[in-house]
Amino acid sequence: MIVINTSHILPDTPYLLDGTESSDVLELPADADPPLAPAGDITYHLSAVMAGADLIVTGSASVPLATVCARCLDDIRVPITVKNLCFHFEKVRDLEVDLTDDVREELLLAIPSCFYCSPDCKGICPVCGANLNHASCGCDRDQAEPEPDPAAPSPWDQLDALNLAPEKPAKKAPATAEKPAKKAPAKKKTAGAAETLAKKAPAKKKSGGRAPKKD
Ligand SMILES: [Zn+2]
Ligand SMILES: [Zn+2]
Repeated sequence: MIVINTSHILPDTPYLLDGTESSDVLELPADADPPLAPAGDITYHLSAVMAGADLIVTGSASVPLATVCARCLDDIRVPITVKNLCFHFEKVRDLEVDLTDDVREELLLAIPSCFYCSPDCKGICPVCGANLNHASCGCDRDQAEPEPDPAAPSPWDQLDALNLAPEKPAKKAPATAEKPAKKAPAKKKTAGAAETLAKKAPAKKKSGGRAPKKD
């Protein structure tokens, strides 16, 4: 636990608290995507001062995480660091204040949605799957997606083979309006609203029609 006993804080003197905390407190999900696992303890450097009966804590915290590069899928270790921690606790004179949850929350919020082994990671070859950071595979990646042959059968042709003729019985359905009697008025209202919109629309077209006359 990261705890500050405010009775130890002297007036006008910042109380420094440096230490480590087990990264188990982060409670990272086991099924995270990308995978996230603690690769070391949380380290923190905090400075606490009292403002009347209130406690103000500033500082930084960091934890290394094991994950994978989003481009090349290599296992990587990345530090998650929060440099501008700032916590404020009201009326805590002569009390022990537990900062663990606050530090945990700030670190979790600082975890990005994806990681890269380096800003210029070359990723993997789309042809052979080789990691291009480690070796050049020699694949002709410009030919990875060949131009489609216009004479070849298109997968979209199968859509033309589908019988998408309108179903005529669907129009008869509203005639048997015994059970959905309550729904029928609602439909009329929406239709009325659409009509009012439709009536307003031509008016706009008239005003819009003036523009060409100026030309
Ligand atoms: Zn990478
Ligand atoms: Zn390749």
